[in-house]
Amino acid sequence: MAIRRIRVFPDPILRKKCRVVRRVDDKIRDLAADMIETLDAAGGIGLAANQVGALQRVVTIHMLGEESAEVLVNPEIRATEGEREIIEGCLSFPGYEGLVKRAISVKARWLDENGSKMTVTAEELYAQAIEHEIDHLNGILYVDHLLAHQKLVAAGSLKREDEPHMHDVELEIHTDHSDDDEVEPDESGIEIVESTIKFSDLYSDSSISQMQYDLRSAGYVVDDPEPEHDTGHQHHGQAGHEQVESDDPHLNGGVLLDPEHRH
Ligand SMILES: [Zn+2]
Repeated sequence: MAIRRIRVFPDPILRKKCRVVRRVDDKIRDLAADMIETLDAAGGIGLAANQVGALQRVVTIHMLGEESAEVLVNPEIRATEGEREIIEGCLSFPGYEGLVKRAISVKARWLDENGSKMTVTAEELYAQAIEHEIDHLNGILYVDHLLAHQKLVAAGSLKREDEPHMHDVELEIHTDHSDDDEVEPDESGIEIVESTIKFSDLYSDSSISQMQYDLRSAGYVVDDPEPEHDTGHQHHGQAGHEQVESDDPHLNGGVLLDPEHRH
């Protein structure tokens, strides 16, 4: 198993349609094992194969509180029910989140890592993750679902209720890659665990700068007329060419994980 580099917007592979897997064999299982390792290292909920450079219809989902991740081969949505607006993030847009419309529940089917047929009715975050990841396999990104007049903002900026959201795949990006493994309460009293996974194991720095530049050029983030003002956590996507930085010492270094997501 190995951690694979996560591709970020606007890497063209994220717009490619992944191929149907003909046989669930050891090659697919190896890919899935790498994807799970990468997903867990990033503290994410879901990862699609093209996000790590493989054009196969393979997804891994690791729901909060679940001991192990699931492997979804050739996943398909059979039906959706309802509609809701929800905060979402994506490991290919590290440091950002936005408001999208998703179904309330989905019926889906796929093959597991042994090739067994699975049929699932999923709700809430699980449904959101399935929709989000199947979109990836079809070259669709969550920015394609942004609500009218909505932009991406820095992860953690949007108002949220207590329930977990897809934003929880968020990564905070920092220039300082220190290895501190401290547990510190943030301003909401929630403990933050800093991962010892190096940011550079998951992402290439140059692709992150390129992403931030391209998100701005494409109009997905708002140009900040006063880039100097100090907004603490509220970056509102003004990062431009710069990395998203924070003055908060708790946030310095590596990838941030909520301890809940490490199970
Ligand atoms: Zn994603």
